[in-house]
Amino acid sequence: MTLSPRLAALLGLSLAFVPLAALAAPGPVQTFSTSAGPVKITPIYHAAVMIEAGGDRIYLDPAKPADISGLPPGDLVLITDIHGDHMDADDIKALSKAGTDIIAPASVQATITAAKPLANGDSTMWRKWKITAVPMYNVTHLQPNGTAFHTKGRGDGYVLSYGGKNFYFAGDTEGTPEMAALKNIDVAFIPMNLPYTMTPDEAAAAVKTFKPKIVYPYHYKGQDPAVFQKDLAGSGIEVRLLDWYANEIPKAAK
Ligand code: ZN
Repeated sequence: MTLSPRLAALLGLSLAFVPLAALAAPGPVQTFSTSAGPVKITPIYHAAVMIEAGGDRIYLDPAKPADISGLPPGDLVLITDIHGDHMDADDIKALSKAGTDIIAPASVQATITAAKPLANGDSTMWRKWKITAVPMYNVTHLQPNGTAFHTKGRGDGYVLSYGGKNFYFAGDTEGTPEMAALKNIDVAFIPMNLPYTMTPDEAAAAVKTFKPKIVYPYHYKGQDPAVFQKDLAGSGIEVRLLDWYANEIPKAAK
């Protein structure tokens, strides 16, 4: 297709005046104070985040179609599950350097062979972080054949503890007894989308079982997180809504 010179000029002009902040990019950065200094969490896309603290950088579930161009390599990559929106060998490689650690459930290690496995319920220390794997699985939303999209034991949600604060990344799960048993969660990231996880109403009910101080809906494609926020009004739990879907690889590059 050819553009008229006038249209091209108009397009060129309009592009030139797009403010940088309007271009898709990871963010905005969420900063939390801890006794060991600030923890900075940057939403990347869908379930992918970057976590920075104490000079270390952690990626969680970097996967296409997140635009990871320009992101620096990490010191640790955490993966929750084998599904393509969480485990992406290309993105893991792109965000790794010599010495980057990978921690994941054993199911992921089958593909990402460099990963150190961490089983549901187990904890490990990585630098200043305590990493605890929490089961993530379906309880009521099953595939047509009756089996769960996420079977118990295959995937890891994570509680990441640093400087006295606990950050919970639930992964693809419904409300479970293990989630309800969590204590002292300062910041939680909770999924909502069907048929794989929960409805916004179910997610709100799940969050009320363990009462984090702050909760971010993530992994909510096709759902309205405002419903979740409304459900939690007056609960004492602060809901923070962000756009987790702006930073996508441009279609032409896919
Ligand atoms: Zn998912």
